Amino acid sequence: MEAALRTGEVKVPICTSCGRTIIPMERYVRFSCPNCGQITIIRCEKCRKFGRPYKCAKCGFVGP
Ligand SMILES: [Zn+2]
Ligand SMILES: [Zn+2]
Repeated sequence: MEAALRTGEVKVPICTSCGRTIIPMERYVRFSCPNCGQITIIRCEKCRKFGRPYKCAKCGFVGP
């Protein structure tokens, strides 16, 4: 269990909008920042549904 957590940098996706961990069976979307393309934005289904804004950690781009 611990070994699995330590390998790689992306193991559990975290919603960029609400900061919540995406549970394995939950649907979510991931895409590159539309502005800088260097950050992967992840949004859980709820944030997508409610249109919550996300903010790019790299360039500060905010968008739905
Ligand atoms: Zn979310
Ligand atoms: Zn960006």
